[in-house]
Amino acid sequence: MSEWQVPLADVRLADAEIEPVVDTLRSGWLTMGPRTEELELAFADYTGSRHAIAVSNGTAALHLICLAAGLGPGDEVIVPSLTFVATANAVSYTGATPVFCDVASTLEPWLSVESAEAAIGERTKAIMAMAYGGHPGQAAELLSLSREHGLTLLEDAAHAPGAKVGRRHVGTLGLAGAFSFFSNKNVPVGEGGMVVTDDDEAAEQIRLLRSHGMTSATWERHGGRASSYDVIAEGFNYRIDEPRAALALARLARLDVDNAARHELVAGYRRDLVGHPALTPTSPASGEAHSADHLFTGVLAEGIDRDRVRNALAERGIQTSVHYPPVHRFSMYEGDWELPVTESYAERSITLPLFPHMSDQQRAHVIESVRSVLGGQPVNDDD
Ligand SMILES: *Cc1c(COP(=O)(O)O)cnc(C)c1O
Repeated sequence: MSEWQVPLADVRLADAEIEPVVDTLRSGWLTMGPRTEELELAFADYTGSRHAIAVSNGTAALHLICLAAGLGPGDEVIVPSLTFVATANAVSYTGATPVFCDVASTLEPWLSVESAEAAIGERTKAIMAMAYGGHPGQAAELLSLSREHGLTLLEDAAHAPGAKVGRRHVGTLGLAGAFSFFSNKNVPVGEGGMVVTDDDEAAEQIRLLRSHGMTSATWERHGGRASSYDVIAEGFNYRIDEPRAALALARLARLDVDNAARHELVAGYRRDLVGHPALTPTSPASGEAHSADHLFTGVLAEGIDRDRVRNALAERGIQTSVHYPPVHRFSMYEGDWELPVTESYAERSITLPLFPHMSDQQRAHVIESVRSVLGGQPVNDDD
């Protein structure tokens, strides 16, 4: 239970989701096995991808898609700076260098195709799109750009189960996509992740690297399908386990209902904030694009002290956040980066509470509080 009257995110598990986990624990088979296989089939079906490979977390999924793209020392990968640090770290794990690019605008905080194009050089090998807040952003344009320049498109789809561009699920546009089942994501499990790809070779390599580079899995040997194994690559232990797979499967079954609830809540926030002088929601998905509504984010008018706003909301029991401190500003990735739109967004954005079972009363409390903290406030006050 949260201490907050309105937490930023919240997970509530139904008995129908807990029971399969308990059944799994009772079965005595805890490592990767039949539930994982079932989850992979269900996720492939849900996203319309040929292969889905379940892993221990979203960061492992990102690392594996970077390896499947053949990234290594000397390669450059275009990434947004406005993302969780794992997007860039996964590129770095392979020895490749992340090249940080700007977002499209302060109300369109996803990787800009112009910024990406301007950063393409001799060493560029891939572009990593990230569906910010569940919005596909310019993924389709980034795919065209990648094709024009012979680059590989990868997708960090951690925010995006349920997001689409036309009939294509986010994460399936490029070579491979990475999803996360971290506890605050749209499919909350605690820890867990998934890779999707239509590429048979990439899928085979990812399965191999997920489990030590071994040619057969414990599950297959247990089932008598294999008696020994060889090791043919320097792999990892990036396996998910059965209780998590069982929970992920149960949560996947209600993802569309959860996302529809998120969508309604976001529509309500947007209606309530129409014409607000000090807080403008980031752009909704339109046309062919459909968002998974992972986050509800807005941009404060210039000159407003965000910390004061966040503290005032916290005093009213409302938890907020900032997505994200830009990665290029961390010591780890310091450099000669010039990303003015990202910096402006990162200084002025605020993330308001959003979770599927958020009540109308909770949303009303957030909006009333936003109005009382910000409403009528002169844009350039300096107190
Ligand atoms: C959560 C997240 C990740 C990492 O996923 P984990 O499952 O926590 O490892 C990567 N990228 C983005 C954009 C995320 O939000």
